[in-house]
Amino acid sequence: MTNLERRYPGEKEYHQAVYELLMSIEEIYNQMPYFDKHSIIERLIEPDRVLIFKVPWVDDMGNIQVNRGFRVQFNNALGPYKGGLRFHPSVNVSIMKFLAFEQVFKNSLTTLSLGGAKGGSDFDPKGKSDGEIMRFCQAFMLELWRHIGPEIDIPAGDIGVGTREIGYLYGMYKKLTRQHNGTLTGKGTDWGGSLLRPEATGYGVVYFINEMLARQKDNIEGKVVAISGFGNVAWGVAKKATELGAKVVTLSGPDGFVYDPDGVRGEKIDFMLELRASNEDIIEPYSQKYPKARFFSNRKPWEVKCDIAIPCATQNELDENDALQLVKNGCRCICEAANMPCTPEAIDIIIQAKLLYAPGKAANAGGVATSGLEMSQNAMKLSWPANEVDMRLQHIMQNIHQNCVKYGLQPDGYINYLKGANIAGFLKVAHAMAEQGV
Ligand code: NDP
Repeated sequence: MTNLERRYPGEKEYHQAVYELLMSIEEIYNQMPYFDKHSIIERLIEPDRVLIFKVPWVDDMGNIQVNRGFRVQFNNALGPYKGGLRFHPSVNVSIMKFLAFEQVFKNSLTTLSLGGAKGGSDFDPKGKSDGEIMRFCQAFMLELWRHIGPEIDIPAGDIGVGTREIGYLYGMYKKLTRQHNGTLTGKGTDWGGSLLRPEATGYGVVYFINEMLARQKDNIEGKVVAISGFGNVAWGVAKKATELGAKVVTLSGPDGFVYDPDGVRGEKIDFMLELRASNEDIIEPYSQKYPKARFFSNRKPWEVKCDIAIPCATQNELDENDALQLVKNGCRCICEAANMPCTPEAIDIIIQAKLLYAPGKAANAGGVATSGLEMSQNAMKLSWPANEVDMRLQHIMQNIHQNCVKYGLQPDGYINYLKGANIAGFLKVAHAMAEQGV
């Protein structure tokens, strides 16, 4: 860690992600001198390559704008690089590296042959016209296409990148390469996208929660659920959780959160999509449309009494105080749907209180897993029906859960899912690296 911090000063999200992994695997690593002989840690924490490029584009006023584009191809020991693209003003090298690093182990957990990568831009899609979004995506792809391909690197969506953006990116990729080879996932279902991909991350999270609860002879039905965010992942979680009989009582945006005592269900879930499509970064209109819902400005949903808390927005959104509040309010389960949404201090509190805690790299792996299923369908030039994709997704989430239990079971019976996920994800990558030589 000292060497890493010296070499990459200020990359705090990246340091945080590496530290979390190293702490979890310390014991098993030290039991196997073979790893040290192959310098696995030193090789694992250094990305294969970090691409940073200029993205000049023209806005609606005819002005030239310049953004930065990134692609971090972290590790391809298990398969071609795979990971989403994020368009958000907060994007920087540290965030790209942390996300790509996490992606390596997440993809390993899915049991599919996928390496880990992440990319994006500090471009802010908020308030941009459709034409501006298209021109930006095209300009971004003008550089990225050289570095990706169906057997090299297959990007997908993330914050700020949904089906529309994937369409513009893929359209440009096709023009440049003259190939329709499925190099991006999250495509429209009429032109190569997998059914259920938009829902998959959220559905997978709920399946994972049900697996955790099943070990305690329980399930999600009747549980009160607090979630944050109102984007793609929050939408999928709300849809599946309500379908299985839970009551989702909160949503949030950077402006605050809404509490809906009647539950976010039915047409209200569709309204989330409308809000998101409006390109505004506010959740407040939800409480104007549904008068029983109350809006709490600049506050987080973690103060609400709930059985299950599911952070679905962004990194480090649930801190120590939030964790203490959740424990105090009798919350039983905290499941990360976003990537690294809980701070290390919050995780310590949650694990010490012996709550069910699922790290994002395990719980939200259903998204990339379904992207992997999209790649398989593209390769076969076939399209599976939704129930087949869903069945495979459920099976993958069950497998991930079993692996977490295998490596996370503590002597007192508590399952440390963080440790379990990190060890299971790490072992596969480490063995592959050692077997493939330096
Ligand atoms: P979206 O852009 O669709 O949604 C993100 C949501 O979170 C938006 O509603 C956003 O509001 C809100 N938000 C952003 N910052 C904050 C904040 N500080 N407090 C509260 N709300 C906030 O992204 P996704 O749903 O795709 O991604 C969400 C998380 O899930 C990310 O961590 C992502 O990496 C992770 N993830 C996504 C996968 C996917 O398949 N999409 C797969 C696996 C993980 P606003 O738009 O106004 O900023």
